[in-house]
Amino acid sequence: MVSRVIPVASFDLVIFGGTGDLARRKILPGLFRRYCAGQMPPEARIIGAARADIDVTTYRDMIGEAIAEFGGSTSVDPEDLNAFLQTLSYVAIDARGETGWRELAKQMRRKVVRAFYFSVAPGLFGDLAERLNNHGLTDDDSRIVVEKPFGRDLESAHQLNQDLAAFFDEGQIYRIDHYLGKETVQNLMAVRFGNMLFEPLWNSQFVDHIQITVAETVGVGGRGEYYDKSGAMRDMVQNHLMQLLCLIAMEPPARFDPDAVRDEKLKVIRALEPVEPHHIVRGQYEADQDNPEEHPDYRTAVENPKSRTESFIAMKTHIANWRWAGTPFYLRTGKRMVARSSEISIVFKDTPHSIFGEEAGRHRNVLSIRLQPNEGIKLGVTIKEPGPGGMRLIDVPLDMTFADALGPDGAENVDAYERLIMDVIRGNQTLFMRGDEVEAAWAWTDPIIEGWTNRGDVPKPYASHSAGPDASAQLMRRDDRDWREVTP
Ligand code: NAP
Repeated sequence: MVSRVIPVASFDLVIFGGTGDLARRKILPGLFRRYCAGQMPPEARIIGAARADIDVTTYRDMIGEAIAEFGGSTSVDPEDLNAFLQTLSYVAIDARGETGWRELAKQMRRKVVRAFYFSVAPGLFGDLAERLNNHGLTDDDSRIVVEKPFGRDLESAHQLNQDLAAFFDEGQIYRIDHYLGKETVQNLMAVRFGNMLFEPLWNSQFVDHIQITVAETVGVGGRGEYYDKSGAMRDMVQNHLMQLLCLIAMEPPARFDPDAVRDEKLKVIRALEPVEPHHIVRGQYEADQDNPEEHPDYRTAVENPKSRTESFIAMKTHIANWRWAGTPFYLRTGKRMVARSSEISIVFKDTPHSIFGEEAGRHRNVLSIRLQPNEGIKLGVTIKEPGPGGMRLIDVPLDMTFADALGPDGAENVDAYERLIMDVIRGNQTLFMRGDEVEAAWAWTDPIIEGWTNRGDVPKPYASHSAGPDASAQLMRRDDRDWREVTP
């Protein structure tokens, strides 16, 4: 199966922070792949902007090296790379200063889509928005793309929204959550709303519980200072895990269009119940016993011996509406865990009665949606164990792993960033967070964080390469349930 690539309209994309880690690791290698796939028109222009006083040749060399390093598994054709690099230019600009803006204006063309990617610290979003406006660089069709973290609480997120709203309409603001750009996340919606099979069962009558796990094997690395002020709740739950929860739990939107989808997601966030303190487990990883020098414990890694920030969190929450009343949602995410794995599992209830007798065995149907690695969807179904010896039931997966089901061409590995940047140019906001969604998510998160801060809770230590603190397993066992195994 060969995937169809429809080129997007011509554009000028300015990347503020064009020399930074995100631009070099994700944004520009992603654009290069879209260029090679024929989706980025050859006449489109990319303009890197940052304070460093470098010339365009140095910038192109820097990005060429980044693409060679982070461009993905496929080999880079030097001719393609060279042609792509010719689409790049560079302007030295300080987001808080006045130099460079005139040069940027000179480089930008009329009658093409103008997009501005704010790949800089959120403290600069307002400055950039204001200067883009003051220097007449934007029109009603221009778009801005902003990165997480979008605030650290409701107040700061509201302020950021206001800073941007002073110069841009909501329809021009693209708040990235790259989890929404993942192929499987969109497939989750295709499976739910494109089949008759699942939606009638998608409620508390048939679903026992839902679990979402985002496990990382890495520690905080070089991001210790940022991470220690944030923690797993702000860094992962408030955005990525909540977005996944929304897509699973939302009512069917009338249309697959940005506001219809985002209205339904917002309703889910607003229906989330507050989380009871005994339904939360926080943890901090211990040193890696095999390599404690290189992989020290969390507090050493963040250079804060008294830190109470969590590198792991597990929690149980409920959605107070007709569809989900009584169905728990279990969320879990952490660093330095046993395997890198992001998975959503819809665990269905037992059949009401076993005609084969309990000795034949009983298995619950589980629909697992795997985001990384090995993106795909599996449905566990019960069949008879082959062979003689009576009726014994076993659980086998109906495997919809895309690489196997669709063949090498159908499973083209489009990175989330590539897809989302192309959506910006197409003007499609469906997979981006709306301002009210972000604020509602913080409104749910803030009291939970305040609660443990006021109680003076200390995170529980957990072994590196484990599934988190024992208390996390107990959170499930108390309900007679288990976490799904974290497998690579
Ligand atoms: P980074 O490596 O520190 O890069 C920051 C970029 O901003 C550099 O190009 C820097 O260049 C530029 N910059 C800093 N101050 C500036 C100013 N006053 N005016 C103009 N440019 C300025 O950061 P990053 O990791 O790329 O992250 C960028 C944003 O994406 C942050 O908001 C981060 O939270 C978010 N994010 C990053 C990742 C990731 O994987 N890296 C993932 C998710 C979200 P100069 O110093 O030369 O100005």
